[in-house]
Formats: sequence, structure tokens, C-alpha cells
Amino acid sequence: MSRFLKKEMEALVAYTPGEQPRDMQYIKLNTNESPFPPAPGVLEAIKREDIEKLRLYSDPTCKELKEKLASLYGVKPENLFIGNGSDEILNFAFMAYSQEHGVTFPDISYGFYSVYADLYCADARQVPLKDDFSLCYKDYCNSGTMVVIANPNAPTGLVIGLSQIEEILKTNPDTVVVIDEAYIDFGGESCYKLIEKYENLLVVRTYSKSRCLAGGRLGYAFGSATLISDLEKLRYSTNPYNIDRLTLLLGEKTVDENEYYMEKCREIIRVRELTALKLQEMGFSVLPSSTNFLFVKNPAIDGNKLYLSLKARGILVRHFGNPRISDFVRITIGTEKQMDIFIRTVKSILEEL
Ligand SMILES: *Cc1c(COP(=O)(O)O)cnc(C)c1O
Repeated sequence: MSRFLKKEMEALVAYTPGEQPRDMQYIKLNTNESPFPPAPGVLEAIKREDIEKLRLYSDPTCKELKEKLASLYGVKPENLFIGNGSDEILNFAFMAYSQEHGVTFPDISYGFYSVYADLYCADARQVPLKDDFSLCYKDYCNSGTMVVIANPNAPTGLVIGLSQIEEILKTNPDTVVVIDEAYIDFGGESCYKLIEKYENLLVVRTYSKSRCLAGGRLGYAFGSATLISDLEKLRYSTNPYNIDRLTLLLGEKTVDENEYYMEKCREIIRVRELTALKLQEMGFSVLPSSTNFLFVKNPAIDGNKLYLSLKARGILVRHFGNPRISDFVRITIGTEKQMDIFIRTVKSILEEL
């Protein structure tokens, strides 16, 4: 750290991304990416001339992509914001809304929420999930603060219902409620249609999980035209060309190929349920998942040891240091073949104990 960094940032603890190791070929079940390639039409989308056109700036309004998403979801383009990954959208949301009234989010959730709260010196209230990791929506009603909830939640995989989200929206009329729907294509009911009724609702989505495009860095959000205009103001005040030309093209093609991605989501869900059953047969407790991952523990082996044993055998899963969940590992659902290897490997680890 230099002596030039401003005082408030000295203590900032940055987000730790999941490992992306290069030392060997792992079966990568640690960062909730898709095991499938983008749709054939997406793979063919980029031509040599598009690469030549990189000398020109990208469209700062993301007009085509917004129009395509608007027609897919039945909203207006002015209800959509496009970000460089959903992380960027969350960043703007915290930048805009977390300082004035503070912010409330669960103690076990996406790790970036507390990083953004710290970055903007917002007063953050972290509400403990219940012992079974379910979220009590009443904890967020009448909060008087910004509210941020991942639904389905990560890394637990659990969901709350639409009526509960609506109750949170109704009882926080003067603050913004962000629902992070990174995993909504794998389960749960989306709340994005509520943007018509609640001007304080921002629904954040990503292309990284269900759209097989984590490396493309693309996310979008639904919100009232007034909320979206706030975020646009911040975007134009930082980086108006936040989405590069190639990613914009890929994002547009992805919308055209929606059925391919829905099919892959169904496949992930099928393999998820198979994998959950097999893990339960081996003595694991498995939280009911509405996502593309499983959050599991086994009384015979602690989370860190299982993580290390799997890594030594070429399989990466995610372990979190937080003491409340240190017994657990989070396992991204891969292809059926990858999950067969995973299950066999876990079996042999347990047998060796
Ligand atoms: C993966 C994830 C994100 C970030 O997604 P990007 O679009 O890749 O930035 C946001 N929220 C949750 C809950 C996630 O799991």
C-alpha cells in the first residue's frame, strides 16, 4: 500500500475470486461457470470484420442488445441496464444507493456485497440466515435501508418466494431493493415483472452462469426507468464504453439462441438432482438447490479437507473460510460425465479415511 491511498481505503478487504489455476487441467467445479460452450450461433457470431471494427468504439447505449432483451422479456428498453458483468451493476447500485440509508443483506450470501458496502463506507447490517440457512423475509421488511438479496441465494442455493419479495418491496418504499438473480434460470420464480409496480426494485442478472459467457463479462438489470437513469448517469461518469463490441455481438446472439440455453439449464438441473441423490447416499447433507451448484457437508470430513483432497485429485470445488459454513463445500454442476468422475473421487476419498 502506498502512502497516497486515501485513509478510508486502507482497511478495505477486497473480494477473493475463486481459483482459476493454470498449473494443470482440473475438472473445474468451483466458480459456477457453465460446463457447456455458448450456442453454435454465438460461436459463429464474430467475423474477421468485427475484429477489424475494434478500432471503433462500441455502442455506449447498447441499443440492439437492450431491444433484444426487452422483446424477450416483455419490458421496455428504458427498463434495462447493461453492465460489464453483473458485478459492475452491483457496484453501481451500491455506489448510488448504499450510503444514504445504509444497506441490509444476509450474513451468508455473495461475498461482494460486503466489499462494495465497505468500498462506499456504507453502514452495513448483515442479518444472520436461520440455522437451516433459510432466509426470513421479515428480517428485511421495514428496514429503512437499501436491501440486497440474492435469490436464489449463493452459496446456499435456497430461494424465497415472490410474495415474500413483494412484502420486502412494499415495506421499504423509500429505499432501493436489489434482487440478484444470477441463478434464477436454474430455479425459483423471477420477480422482474414487479418492476412495473415498484419503482424501488432493481433485478440484476448475469450472462456468466446460465448463458455460458463468464469470460465475456456481461450482465443486465431490470428496473424502473428512473432507477435505470441513475445507473446510466454513473456509467457515463465512469466508463460509457463498458461493453466491448465483441461482447455486445455475443450478447445479442445469445438472446437469439435462448432455447439452446434453456435446454442446457434443464440438463444442469437433471444432473444436479442426480448428483444430490448420490451424495446423500454417501452420507452428505445436501441443501435443496435452485441453482447450478450444490452446498453440501459430510460429518466424516470437514470442508477444507474435502476441498484439498479433491484438488489433489484434479477436481476443484469451493470452500469458504467463514466459520458458519466451513464444514461445507460448494460444488458447481458440470456435465454428467464430470459429475460421475466427481462422485467416484469423493467415494474413494471417503473410503481412504
Ligand atoms: C456469479 C455471481 C455474480 C457475478 O456475476 P458476473 O456477472 O460474472 O459479474 C453476482 N451475483 C451472484 C450471486 C453470483 O453468484
